Amino acid sequence: MLTGNYDKILEKIALASGIEKEEIERRVEAKRAKLSGLISKEGAAQIIAAELGISFDNEKLKIDELLPGMRKVNVVGKVVTLFPVREFNKNGRSGKVANMIIADETSNIKVVLWDTNHIELIEKGEVVEGTVVEIINAGMRDNELHLGSFSEFKKSEEILENVKSEIVAKEKNILNFKNLENVKTRAFIVQIFEPRFFNVCPECKKKVISEGEGFVCAEHGKVMPEKRALLNLVLDDGTETIRGVLFHESISSLGLTDLENVDSFIKQKEELLGKEMFFSGTIRKNKLFNNKEFIIDKAEEIDLDALIKELEENAN
Ligand SMILES: [Zn+2]
Repeated sequence: MLTGNYDKILEKIALASGIEKEEIERRVEAKRAKLSGLISKEGAAQIIAAELGISFDNEKLKIDELLPGMRKVNVVGKVVTLFPVREFNKNGRSGKVANMIIADETSNIKVVLWDTNHIELIEKGEVVEGTVVEIINAGMRDNELHLGSFSEFKKSEEILENVKSEIVAKEKNILNFKNLENVKTRAFIVQIFEPRFFNVCPECKKKVISEGEGFVCAEHGKVMPEKRALLNLVLDDGTETIRGVLFHESISSLGLTDLENVDSFIKQKEELLGKEMFFSGTIRKNKLFNNKEFIIDKAEEIDLDALIKELEENAN
């Protein structure tokens, strides 16, 4: 969904307040303007809701309705990934922490358990991957759902099918990209740099170093390396520009097919410059230049028919 989450929040506020959606949207925009656009539409809508005395507390929410800052969150989801329970020892405090990803039909989210009673359910094997769990009274910390000793964590009888277990990228403007976020954006390609090539180990895909005649992997010793490509480009969506990095397989999603053939690369590059596409991936901070970088997993053609259909559905 492009704006599903925002729309649902608007609808909830409209329903609870009796104010028309268009008017709420106007207030959201006014709030964002006042805060110099530093806040997302969803965040601004949450402030408007609070100002109107509307609370999402104790309401059972879908995962794509969860927002940073929410407290007393109730949600049901299927455990799609369960990470090993970790023990920690920090500042003289020790304990256990468990991480998992839960999903429903709208989205997925990382859940962090701090309470030993909750963690015990995992250690005893009562909650495993595939278990549907009910979470009551949890709190959002950034984009994670955290459970403390006041939260409830239990198995649910609900049956969840077709859960959305792939990483859901948030659709954002480049200006609002934050470090480590998974994002999707619609932007123009304004610059493409020469591809670079390097060698990796065929086993672990890590970089190999050339030694004498051959190549050596730190873990696998002497190997026949695989040649990999890396491509840098610059994207602009009207709010900001960002440098994007694409590795090997992702490059073909741009439509670049034969990177090592200079003539065909120049020709395909000319066709790509100025083209608008959807890009999804992760934001990383480049420590060397102290700026943000967009590690692009996938470039997609803009399907205008699908966009129009979605707009129509949202309008209904
Ligand atoms: Zn290796």
